[in-house]
Order: sequence, then C-alpha cells, then structure tokens
Amino acid sequence: MLQYLQNFWKFRNPLSPYRRTSRRDRAEFRELLSIWKPPAEQRVVLLRWQLTRWCNYSCPYCPQKHERHAPLGENHTAHAFDNYPVDQWVEAFRRHFAEQRATLVLTGGEPMLDRRSMPELLQALTTMKTVECIRIDTNARWDPQPYREIDRGKLILMCTFHPSEIEEAAFLRQLDVLMAEGFEIGQVNYVFTRENMREFERRWELFREKGIALYPNPLWGPSGYYDADELALLGRYLPKDVDYKYRARKESPQGQRCLFPAIGYQMDAVGRIQVGCHPSLAGSFFNADLPELFDGPVPCPMIRCGCIDMYSFLEGSGRVLGVNPLADHRRELLALDPNRELPLFERGAYPAEEPAAHANGAEGSVD
Ligand code: SF4
Ligand code: SF4
Repeated sequence: MLQYLQNFWKFRNPLSPYRRTSRRDRAEFRELLSIWKPPAEQRVVLLRWQLTRWCNYSCPYCPQKHERHAPLGENHTAHAFDNYPVDQWVEAFRRHFAEQRATLVLTGGEPMLDRRSMPELLQALTTMKTVECIRIDTNARWDPQPYREIDRGKLILMCTFHPSEIEEAAFLRQLDVLMAEGFEIGQVNYVFTRENMREFERRWELFREKGIALYPNPLWGPSGYYDADELALLGRYLPKDVDYKYRARKESPQGQRCLFPAIGYQMDAVGRIQVGCHPSLAGSFFNADLPELFDGPVPCPMIRCGCIDMYSFLEGSGRVLGVNPLADHRRELLALDPNRELPLFERGAYPAEEPAAHANGAEGSVD
C-alpha cells in the first residue's frame, strides 16, 4: 500500500516532473520531440512487443525456453496467438491506435514461425493508416511463402546471424531469398562471442558488399567477458560513442534523462504492457485504455540498457531516431569507416575495465 501511494505521488500527481516537460527538457530534446511528439500532429508511439518465445533455434546463449507451449503463468503460454486469437489483438491495436500513430517492433523468439497467425496479423497492421513502420526481429530462417500477400512497404527486418545455428553460406542464401521476395533487411546483428569474433571483420566486408549492414552484438552471459583488444574491435564497428558506452557496458544509464518512457511501451505475449522501462506502470493491452506515458524525458530507472532503439533516446546520445529507427541506423552503419579517428574510449575517456559477469537477457532478447 505504501509503495502504491509513493508511486502514485511520484508518477501520477499532475505537478510531478513525470507529468510535465520542463523548458530545459523541451530545448534539450527538441529534435526528438519534433518527430515523436510534434505539436500540430498526432504523436508517434513506439511499441516493442515480444509476442513469442517460440523459436526454431536453440542457441547455447539464449536465456529463453523455445517451446511454443512453455508455460508463462496464469494459464498463459509463450506464444501470443495461443493466449488470444489474432482478431482480438487486432481489435485492440485498432482501438489504441485509432488516434495516434505507431511504430512497432515485433520480437521473439522467432515471430515469423507462425505461418497461420502472423500473416493475418501483418495483413491487418500494414493496412492500418496510423501504423507507420513494423520492424521484425528475426533469425531469417522461415518460409516467406505465407507472407506473399502482405504489402512490404511498412516492414523492415532486423535479422540476427547465429553462426552456432546456421552456416554462413546458408544464412546468406536465406537473406537473398527474403530480399528477392521484397523484404527490406535493415541490418544483420552478429552474435559477437569470442568464437565468432575471429570471422567478424571478414564477414563485415562480405555483407557490406551486398549492401547489408553487419552490427556486432556483444553477449554478457555468465561467461561474457571481453578483453581490451576485443572491446577495441567492438568499438571500431559501433558507429557512435553512445553505442560503445552502453553495449560495452562502460556506463550505466541510471538516473540520466531519457525520452523513451514518454513515447514507448513494452509488451509481452499475454498483453501485459508497461510504460517504457517502468514495470510498476503497467496494464493490459485488452483494457479500454493503455497506461499513460510520461509527458517528457524522465530519469532512467535501469542499471543497463543495451538496445539501440532505446538508449538512443537518452539525453546527449548524439542520435535522432525517426519513426523508422532501423532505417536510420542502417544508413549510419553502412557509412561507418572502421578506420576512422578513434572513438572516445580509445582516447582514454573510457578506460578498459574488466566487466563483471552479468546474466544475459535482462535487457531484452538477443535478436
Ligand atoms: S537467441 Fe534468438 S534465435 Fe537463438 S534461440 Fe533464442 S530466440 Fe531463438
Ligand atoms: S536508457 Fe534504456 S532503460 Fe533507461 S529509460 Fe531509456 S530506454 Fe529505458
């Protein structure tokens, strides 16, 4: 009860800084606000939806169970469309996004495995006027045939290359198949384990020749530890200091001002939806209304943040993401010169330190 009252006073009181945007914040976040909360237009909401944990891979570093029917508690299971039928999800999307624009991130597990429900969902979402962009996080190993009728215009794929699960040639062939089918590949995440990093630079060139941006994705599992040379390699292939700071865990975002909780939600496979990174401000997607987002930037409550389309909303990130964040990022990655002037950390601003071992997955799936 005491916690509830404290949260109520902190988050819902109309005089709270969580409900008003100061003049300083309006100035500091001016460019982002003009895109995501333009004064004379509908705002844009970024919804990250982990709609399934079901996956056709079984990566050794994956923190999730991969079975479609793995229990999630309260008679729910790991796959959104086993919990509620597609039309119920679509109805809720239509209700919540009738008056506000949305950019969606669909992640898993492997969202495209469900050949029956996913085409139905995408057909409905791509034809909604207010849905601007749908990014799908995928391992790319699925049959595009059931998706032939879907308009690709609003879709962009963020593929992940897992060398433990698929050979390079087979993965490249699969990307070719998807591109031939009209899917846009925003980028390819590369699982940057010690075993995989030996091949990273060669593969980075190979993918770039095909016009595909390869992005190193460090894993901080119990054995996740990178020495100074490995961190330097990582830093050369990350476009900005902000990426290095948070992906190499050189800094914590905690307490820094971030706009994500004023524009973004996170939702799971049962429709539990929370404001930004604030689990105490949650509701059900199937309710009449969504929990209210904050008015402007607020202090980050988390120790870590490893997702580019989240930490880029921090004050001073040096990046202004548009409503298709992955398209912006792809341009940045393709323009990257790994031999450019050394980033800050190599000039000594972020001394190499031995990172502590962390449980992987606390900040989201590795896809
Ligand atoms: S890491 Fe991704 S692709 Fe690998 S098993 Fe987990 S969800 Fe599937
Ligand atoms: S930095 Fe990341 S964890 Fe922190 S508030 Fe922003 S999006 Fe959330």
